[in-house]
Amino acid sequence: MSENINKVALVTGASSGIGRTCAIELAKDGFEVVVNYYPAPACEAEADEVVKEIENLGKKAIAIGCDVTDSKAVAEMIDRIVKDCGRIDVLVNNAGITRDGLLIRMSDEDWEKVVNTNFNSVFYVTKPVAKVMMKQRSGNIINMASITGVYGNAGQANYASTKAGVIGFTKTIAKELASRGITANAIAPGFIKTPMTEKLDTGKIEANIPLGRLGTPEDIADVVKFLSKPGLYITGQVIGVDGGLVI
Ligand code: NAP
Repeated sequence: MSENINKVALVTGASSGIGRTCAIELAKDGFEVVVNYYPAPACEAEADEVVKEIENLGKKAIAIGCDVTDSKAVAEMIDRIVKDCGRIDVLVNNAGITRDGLLIRMSDEDWEKVVNTNFNSVFYVTKPVAKVMMKQRSGNIINMASITGVYGNAGQANYASTKAGVIGFTKTIAKELASRGITANAIAPGFIKTPMTEKLDTGKIEANIPLGRLGTPEDIADVVKFLSKPGLYITGQVIGVDGGLVI
């Protein structure tokens, strides 16, 4: 029997891309999964499909619509999870967006939208979840960063700054929460095939990736599952999953 039976994982932004695959793979690993999605009808329909796919595997999942940039709505979501599922063992802070542009052309709106979605949300979600995990004296927090947060990327001052912030946040909470048996790690994906990257010229990108291909959401989910193990002896780390792009 899986060691994760009766354990609960929350994945934000799980209606598509990396979040969707992480939700399904964590369910296969035995977790009951909370599929968070942006509260819009199209995302709700996608999240319901993720739940159905998990249920078809004979596993448990619920979908909860919540805009992770709204701290009050997030607090309500976490209360509901604790009421309905009793605990939270794994948190994957995955929701994220891009609004690319060169610095001198970037609008305040594009800056703020990306900061709210990719960075402030990580604080809003992690704070109440950490309180739940502290009471349990266990838990694994996994934050989706990006190689841009380590190396920068022209045209992504907003995005890269949020991902660098996520890395600093991860290292700090790893230090604060370790004594309670809670780990916090970040994943820094390179180029992964998802709706976020579908408009990019992938031929050119692939030529620069030593392993010769873009990553898949499954490549990321494998690492998420690894970092979700109870008793994990790794914390405060940033794991690059980029096919060797930034060796
Ligand atoms: P994606 O398919 O666009 O998934 C992002 C998910 O986040 C979507 O389901 C999106 O919902 C959701 N979301 C956005 N704003 C939200 C909000 N306010 N509240 C709740 N959910 C929200 O992109 P992805 O490639 O899977 O990205 C997942 C994570 O990986 C992001 O943090 C991204 O920065 C990171 N990442 C991706 C790559 C890559 O190459 N793909 C590389 C490095 C890092 P909607 O459908 O409504 O937008």
